[in-house]
Amino acid sequence: MKVVKGDITKFRAEAIVNAANKYLEHGGGVAYAIAKAAAGDVYEYIRISKEEMKKQIGRDYIEHGEVVVTPPLRLAENGVKYVIHTVGPYCGGKWDEDKKNKLKLAILGALKKADELGVKTIAFPAISAGIYGCPLEEVVKTFKEVVDEFIKRSKSIKEVFLVLYSEEDYSKAIKALGGND
Ligand code: ADP
Repeated sequence: MKVVKGDITKFRAEAIVNAANKYLEHGGGVAYAIAKAAAGDVYEYIRISKEEMKKQIGRDYIEHGEVVVTPPLRLAENGVKYVIHTVGPYCGGKWDEDKKNKLKLAILGALKKADELGVKTIAFPAISAGIYGCPLEEVVKTFKEVVDEFIKRSKSIKEVFLVLYSEEDYSKAIKALGGND
């Protein structure tokens, strides 16, 4: 897993993952940014997402581990083929085994789907580390555990990027993984 600093809506990867809420409302944070960058009109991307959720899941919400795939629209200009929506846990500043397991499911669900779709490169935002209030360091460590394990048996995925939006989060992430910054 490579940790990078940047804006995921500008990132070049075959799949980008959205830190969605369970209803795919894309009301704020990275979800809003992705919807806006993909469709221009956020409401249009919400409409597309909900329609795909009905088709792919058969419900109007997703559980941790369930994912919905939507077309990249304008993000195709960045080489993006799929946007994969997954839902992480709500922490509100707390962290425990249950939150960790839900985050693992959210990450793994997106990796499995991308692998199934034949994706070679995939980029994630720090799921649950924004509005959902999970500690960034724990989120980053959980990402590393899940990705390191998954990559051993992945069929198509070669590179996984964790894209941190702010300089501060990027530094924290590098430190959490024991790197130099
Ligand atoms: P959640 O509700 O899962 O916490 P958020 O969208 O609030 O999701 O935040 C998840 C992470 O995404 C946060 O660390 C936030 O700083 C980051 N983020 C926000 N916008 C972008 C972006 N354009 N590119 C990459 N990361 C982003």
